[in-house]
Amino acid sequence: PVVPDYNKLQQIIDEAYELFENDSAGAPADYIPELARVEPDLFGISVVTVDGRVFSAGDVEHYFSIQSISKVFTLAMVMEQLGQQAILEKLGAEPTGLPFNSVTAIEQQATRVGNPLVNAGAIATTSLLEGKSQAVKWKSILAFYSACAGEELELLKDIYNSEAATNGRNQAIARLLDAYGVMYDDPEKAVDVYTRQCSVGITTKQLAAMGATLAAGGINPFTGVEVMNAENIPQILSIMLSCGMYDYSGTWSYLTGLPAKSGVGGGIVAVVPGKGAIAAFSPRLDTAGNSIRAQKAIAYISQQLNINIFDPQ
Ligand code: GLN
Repeated sequence: PVVPDYNKLQQIIDEAYELFENDSAGAPADYIPELARVEPDLFGISVVTVDGRVFSAGDVEHYFSIQSISKVFTLAMVMEQLGQQAILEKLGAEPTGLPFNSVTAIEQQATRVGNPLVNAGAIATTSLLEGKSQAVKWKSILAFYSACAGEELELLKDIYNSEAATNGRNQAIARLLDAYGVMYDDPEKAVDVYTRQCSVGITTKQLAAMGATLAAGGINPFTGVEVMNAENIPQILSIMLSCGMYDYSGTWSYLTGLPAKSGVGGGIVAVVPGKGAIAAFSPRLDTAGNSIRAQKAIAYISQQLNINIFDPQ
């Protein structure tokens, strides 16, 4: 079995929920006006195993915006289209050690974009995606994310409109990258597609399924469809481990030994290769932009289950 004891797993998830249910530290992201309006007490946890079992606690039916977690899946698309070497050459795989929307990082890093999981690198990634128009690119993104989730996903229009009206900083980042010759489409169009991908609505169960697809070598555990090339998954997970939790990635890795990705919508997904994924959602964030209750819940579950990927036993 993928998990030695399924009852025990559910019990650990319930414990994590109860332990952090009343933790009200942090605050929802407010630089995107619509995110500041999300109910801050929402809290959900889902685990999906590679054999398609689902274990949950809390508000797992709520649709939140995927935000930066989308970066992993657009990276998977572009890696499939261009190959692993192009990712290294055009985007890089170095953690910036700086906030996710840092302009300083662009100025300081040799590849300018740093890695595909910060805003600069993610907008550059989106600009590399094949497709003759914005509409075609966006359609392919939504279809791919849906295939990874095993269910049809949709854009959260209020989030998209709110973010599109306030994303001057991302537009500036895209123009700066363009000036450095590392933007591969019209910067404005690339930012628009990127903003759409960040506004995809998702539940913790769907997010865990997306993570479990990575854990299962690219095969969605619900549909059995092979949605991505297994050969690229070690590289994707490696970038998640070093860069997935913004400028907290090193500490996260130290605590859990699990590749993960967070988003300012409050979601986090951690991948356990060959076994499954743990997703959690709660809107209040720490100063790096990671959901506080989601990271505590996932860290607790991973420690109780002893699933640190570096554990030699
Ligand atoms: N859409 C958000 C932004 O570009 C995503 C950031 C995040 O989740 N860290 O600012």
